[in-house]
Amino acid sequence: MKHNDLHILFACSELTPWVKTGGLADVCGSLPRALQQHNVDVRVVIPGYKDVLDRIQPPAFVALLNLPLGTVTLCQSTLNGVDVLLVNHELFTNRTGNPYMSDADRPWPDNALRFALFSQAVCEIANRASETEWQPDLVHCHDWQTGLIPALLSLQIDAPATVFTIHNLAYQGNITMGEYHRLHLPEELLVQDGLEFWGQASFIKGGIAYADRINTVSPTYAEEITDREFGCGMEGLLLHRRGSLSGILNGIDLQTWNPATDQHIACNYTADTIELKAKNKIDLQKQLNLAPEPDALLFGVISRLAIQKGIDLVIEAFKKIESDTPDQNFQLALLGSGDSTLQAQLEELADAHPKRVAVVFDFDEKLSHKIEAGADVFLMPSRYEPCGLNQMYSHRYGTLPLVTRVGGLADTVNDYTDGLDSANGFVIESADATLLGSEMLNAVERFRDKAGWHQMQRNAMSADYSWAESASHYIRMYSDILEERNVI
Ligand code: ADP
Repeated sequence: MKHNDLHILFACSELTPWVKTGGLADVCGSLPRALQQHNVDVRVVIPGYKDVLDRIQPPAFVALLNLPLGTVTLCQSTLNGVDVLLVNHELFTNRTGNPYMSDADRPWPDNALRFALFSQAVCEIANRASETEWQPDLVHCHDWQTGLIPALLSLQIDAPATVFTIHNLAYQGNITMGEYHRLHLPEELLVQDGLEFWGQASFIKGGIAYADRINTVSPTYAEEITDREFGCGMEGLLLHRRGSLSGILNGIDLQTWNPATDQHIACNYTADTIELKAKNKIDLQKQLNLAPEPDALLFGVISRLAIQKGIDLVIEAFKKIESDTPDQNFQLALLGSGDSTLQAQLEELADAHPKRVAVVFDFDEKLSHKIEAGADVFLMPSRYEPCGLNQMYSHRYGTLPLVTRVGGLADTVNDYTDGLDSANGFVIESADATLLGSEMLNAVERFRDKAGWHQMQRNAMSADYSWAESASHYIRMYSDILEERNVI
C-alpha cells in the first residue's frame, strides 16, 4: 500500500502556532506535517477564530455550506505547506481570546452549539456525496470538540472511516438532554451505547463509541483510562473497546524546541557545549529578578494552572521544605495561566520569597523557551498526564524533569535510581506533596555531583522525540482501518 493512497482530514480545535491552549495544538501543528513527509495526503480543518483570521493572510474562499445549525463559509489557507480549511461563522469569527473560555475563565455558554456546528461542517466536507472537490478516506478527530463527528458520520451511508484521539479524557463536552434537543441533533444517537452518559449527552463519548479506532497520546495513558481512577466515568466503554484502543506517544517539534538554534534564548548550546546552558540560567534569573546564583538549583514550571498539573503540590512542597529544612539552595520560576485560587497562592509564595520564587501569569511562548533553557529541573507532579510535552522539551534542553509516574511521563522519564546509563530525570510514585518535597531535596543533593548530573543531561538530550516514529504508527493505524474497509 502506498501512503499517497491515504487521504486524511484532521479535525481539531487548536493548531500551533495559530491558536493554542495546550498540547493538542502542538500535536495538530506537527503531526500533519510529519504525515505529509511520509507522502500522506492530509488536510486540516479548524474553526475560523477571529484571532486566527487576524494573524494570517486572508484565506481563499472555497464554498458556502448550508448545515442544519447554520450556514458557514469554508475557506482555505496553508500552514507550513499543509492545507488548512477554516470554518467561518460568527460564533467563531466574532469572538477574541481563548477558544473555549471567557475572560472570567468560564466556558463560553454556547460551546455545545459552536462545536456541534463545527462538527456538522466537518461531516459535510467529509461527505463523499458533497460538492467539495476533495474528500478524505478517513477523518482523524481530536478531543471532545470533535467527538460528535464519528457519531454523525455513523449515520451516513458510505461515510469515511474515523480515528478519535483522546488528548485529555477529563474534558468531555457534556451537556444536558434539554440542550441536546435544542441543538436538534439526531435522537438515535442519544442511546446508552451512543452519546448518553449518566443522564447527559457527551460529545467525547461520540468519539469513543463510534470511531473505528481510538487512541491516546501515550501507551501508559491508554492503559490507565480503562481503570476507574483515570477513566473519568468512561472506563467501562473503553474497556469494552479495548481491542480498538491504543497509545501512540506524541513527538515534539524538533525545530521549534532546539537549544542549538532557539532564537528566544540568551545562549545557544548542545550536549557538547552544555556548560553554556548556565548563561541561560543567569539570563532567566535576571529577567525574573531572582538572585543571580549559579549554584542554586533552579526549578522551572510552565503549565496550565489546573489541579491536574499538581501545582498545589508544588506550593505545599515548597512550604513544607521551608518549614522543615529552611534555606535550601534552590529557586522556582513558574509561568502559567488558569485557576485564580492557585494564582493567588503562588503570588503569596513569591511575595514571601522574592529572590527565590518568581511567578508570571501569562501565556508567553518566548518566556517558556527561556525557562526550558534556564532551569535545571522541570517540575511536572501531575495527577494524570495523557502525554505531556514539557518533559520532552526539557530533555532536549538538558533540563531534568521531576515527574509523577503517570501516563506519558512514565513512558519518557527514567528515574536516577534506574542507573546512570538511562537516568534522565526524577520520578515520584504518586502525586503527593511530601514525596515531591523530598524528591526536590534529592535533586538539590544530586545537583552537587556535577559528573553524575552531566551524564543524566546527556541521556536526556540524546532521546529521539521526532514525529517520524509517531507518524509511522498513525499511518499503520489508518492503513489497517482502510484495508479492513476495503477502501485501499
Ligand atoms: P496540556 O495540553 O495538558 O496543557 P502539555 O504538556 O501536553 O499539557 O502541553 C502544554 C503545552 O502548552 C506546552 O507546549 C507548554 O509549553 C505550553 N504552555 C502551557 N502553559 C503555558 C504558558 N503559560 N505560556 C506558554 N506556554 C505554555
